[in-house]
Amino acid sequence: MTIQPNSIEARDKAYQLHSYTNARALERDGSLVIDRGEGVYVYDNNGKKYIEAMAGLWSVAVGFGENRLVEAAARQMAKLPYYHTFTARSHGPSVELAEKLIQMAPVPMSKAYFTNSGSEANDTAMKMVWYRSNALGKPEKKKIISRIKGYHGVTIASASLTGLPNNHRSFDLPLPGIFHTTCPHYRVFKQEGETESAFVERCAKDLEDLVLREGPETVAAFIGEPVMGAGGVIVPPAGYWEAIQKVLKKYDILFIADEVICGFGRTGKMFATETFSLEPDIITVSKQISSSYQPISALLINEKVYQPLADESANIGTFGHGVTAAGHPVAAAVALENIAIIEERDLVGNVRALAPKFQSRLKAMESHPLAIEARGTGLIGALELKPRDGFAAGELGPKLLAVMLEKGLISRAIGDSLALCPPMIISESQVDAVFDLFEDSLNAFQKQLS
Ligand code: PLP
Repeated sequence: MTIQPNSIEARDKAYQLHSYTNARALERDGSLVIDRGEGVYVYDNNGKKYIEAMAGLWSVAVGFGENRLVEAAARQMAKLPYYHTFTARSHGPSVELAEKLIQMAPVPMSKAYFTNSGSEANDTAMKMVWYRSNALGKPEKKKIISRIKGYHGVTIASASLTGLPNNHRSFDLPLPGIFHTTCPHYRVFKQEGETESAFVERCAKDLEDLVLREGPETVAAFIGEPVMGAGGVIVPPAGYWEAIQKVLKKYDILFIADEVICGFGRTGKMFATETFSLEPDIITVSKQISSSYQPISALLINEKVYQPLADESANIGTFGHGVTAAGHPVAAAVALENIAIIEERDLVGNVRALAPKFQSRLKAMESHPLAIEARGTGLIGALELKPRDGFAAGELGPKLLAVMLEKGLISRAIGDSLALCPPMIISESQVDAVFDLFEDSLNAFQKQLS
């Protein structure tokens, strides 16, 4: 693409540093500027239409251009554009949202605590876990276990929890005291001749060995996404969560379920905690809580976490944590309206209704000569490309992504896996359109390669 002087692309590269972007490549190639959106579609600044099959960043559940959310924000802006929840202050939207979240929680939860991003929520979870251990007189119980390929964010603590090399390299992470256990991706991590159930047992044994090596009295919590998203859409094999939770219970280790992607319907239940029969002590949510129309995230904590934390705040005189915009009234009002839309339109039911078609069309692509594996559940999935002579690992994915973009389909390349996570309002014919474009792109890419 030639970048015209003074164009938005030229000004973008002149003034803005982008997340998850090769800055030198952007200087050369420019960015794709999205101008507006409607339903499952977005339009770039040249008017080209795309199906946004990633719902932004796995997040725009109700689709783009939802006027009810615009109006909810405007009403709240006019009434009370900002207030905080520090020092025993409160406001209606944060109370209503906390109440709603506790009522809809998939397991008994005691309190909701608000933050602004998934990273902050997980960072806060880690601080709460440490604070609780101190409150319980167990200052040595501080270590946290995460998983290889898990994604929990980018702040110093949450990036440490993340188990992906590019979130650590040159950032001097992870922090000490954070460990990464086996990733439950059977095809990639299985040993020669290992059955799926033997692999599950080994995942649990690896976790137990790690706990025993470090000393159970020093391990405070385990964090995991029910379905790994940014690590490549990895759905754990049957029995995995049952086996993992057994180990956590045995050694009195808290379980933090990171539902930042899965929460609010993505797997066909309101929370993946239900889909996988999880019993977390802390659940972190963000993204689809507000369809990302406003930045907001939350932690749901149970009594086991809340009671010691409340005691410690009384001992110290305060719970010394909180960010200015947490529980922001406009974000909370938008989240409440967004959840109302998800419930009224039964978007979780829509996920369940469309999942068989979505997953079967994805699975059908696995037999394409360029593909090696299709993975997914509910309305989330990924197709992984076969390694190919002459291409480094992770080189093919972005090339196919460019072909998809050309054809008007927005996906995301995670190495050589192309992810799909469309808005939950998607219709059956739109699901077909996504896969028709995906197949066309794959065939065109095959021609390019031959
Ligand atoms: N946890 C999960 C599972 C995520 O997918 C993400 C972001 O993609 C995060 C946490 C971090 O959220 P944020 O980007 O809002 O900090």
